[in-house]
Amino acid sequence: MAIPWAADDAPSPRLLVLNDLLAVDLGLDPDWLRSPDGVRFLVGRHLPKGATPVAQAYAGHQFGNYSPRLGDGRALLLGELVHADGLPRDLHLKGSGRTPFSRGGDGFAAVGPMLREYVVSEAMHALGIPTTRSLAVVATGREIRRETMLPGAVLARVAGSHLRVGSFQYARATDDVDLLRRLADHAIARHHPAAADAENPYLALFDAVVAAQSSLVARWMLVGFVHGVMNTDNVTICGETIDYGPCAFMEAYDPAAVFSSIDHGGRYAYGNQPGITGWNLARLAESLLPLFADDQDRAIALAVDALGAFPGLYENAVTAGTHAKLGLPPGIDAGTLVEDLRTILRDNHVDHTSFHRRLATGAARDLVLDLAAIDGWLARWRALSPDTDAMRLVNPAYVPRNHLVEQALAAAVDGDNTPLTRLLDAVTDPFAETGDRAELAEPAPAGSGAYQTFC
Ligand code: AMP
Ligand code: MG
Ligand code: MG
Repeated sequence: MAIPWAADDAPSPRLLVLNDLLAVDLGLDPDWLRSPDGVRFLVGRHLPKGATPVAQAYAGHQFGNYSPRLGDGRALLLGELVHADGLPRDLHLKGSGRTPFSRGGDGFAAVGPMLREYVVSEAMHALGIPTTRSLAVVATGREIRRETMLPGAVLARVAGSHLRVGSFQYARATDDVDLLRRLADHAIARHHPAAADAENPYLALFDAVVAAQSSLVARWMLVGFVHGVMNTDNVTICGETIDYGPCAFMEAYDPAAVFSSIDHGGRYAYGNQPGITGWNLARLAESLLPLFADDQDRAIALAVDALGAFPGLYENAVTAGTHAKLGLPPGIDAGTLVEDLRTILRDNHVDHTSFHRRLATGAARDLVLDLAAIDGWLARWRALSPDTDAMRLVNPAYVPRNHLVEQALAAAVDGDNTPLTRLLDAVTDPFAETGDRAELAEPAPAGSGAYQTFC
């Protein structure tokens, strides 16, 4: 399921951003990574003796349509490192050149999107949301052809692993049950070791992925994150967010919010994300059926039962998280308070992040046009004695707002890293509001127009 492969050389590699803290956690010396040898390591060209990078195979449903062979078309797995937490991590490159899985693609990535992945993934991590991490972005010195010529880059990405639902779909499609079992055993050992002791380890693996993914999508919903391309090849077994292509943070609360230029039907709209996660988990269950039981009718019954836990797990996670955002105890009966707030936020196009942040300080009312509605709601909310100190620890002041990300990337592509550094400083410390970055907490200026993202 993996082909040994080498990264393309970078004509003149230049380090654009390095994650010093993550490097140290991975046992890498940041000073060395800044040296010419270190920068060539970060583009996959100066590797330790014996290291054999590979391009991994996977399949996947893209917008609901099955592709039997996707795989790392512009990525390479360099190898594994042990993190300071004692657990292994994959070190992976994105944009390192063509591979046997490239199909029509050029294998490259542009500076802008790779910096975008760096900023957004590190922001997600700081928000406490499981995610792949970003170690570095290196400009390669190669011009790549998109609508215009753009500067190329390689992102060094770090993940619990790159096992995806699509990895299991690929293994299942080979009809080699032994391969499927070895892949599942590997996933159990690496990510869900408790499953090994269960009566039915493969069903327990599935249960663990259902739990991890229900918690993950609840966290996305709570911060207003729209992934944008929740194809089954972009759903990890470890429960980390992966693939920051067309993602965006929603500003005005709207279940129908879509940002990706290719998501015409709104399949991956904000409000559809929990349902799509359930759909993706069903594809994982199908792939694992031969391992659940020898009798496939029995296997299907077990899968249906296990998948049936998803809606409840999701609802519990999102309700507990919503209560925390509102400063309320997890188990409290809040009646229709949450639903009614969602209606007010949607009808008044209220900024999701600012509203929750300002609720603790009394400044949220001004964000709502319908004052009668919000005053009535605020009175009901206050009657529940919310803990406003606790709210400041769960409602971020800073998320990577789309207009700020675009400004920072445009400046960085022009050689000015100042806005990028400033934005990174804010979003990697998202709960600590400081006066000198007040404008980074504001929604996009009126008249910015609809925001669109591209893969
Ligand atoms: P994604 O939508 O980002 O999950 O990517 C879907 C598939 O397209 C994966 O197999 C990627 O490796 C591949 N892909 C995306 N961009 C390129 C590119 N520029 N060159 C080759 N393959 C690519
Ligand atoms: Mg992908
Ligand atoms: Mg992608």
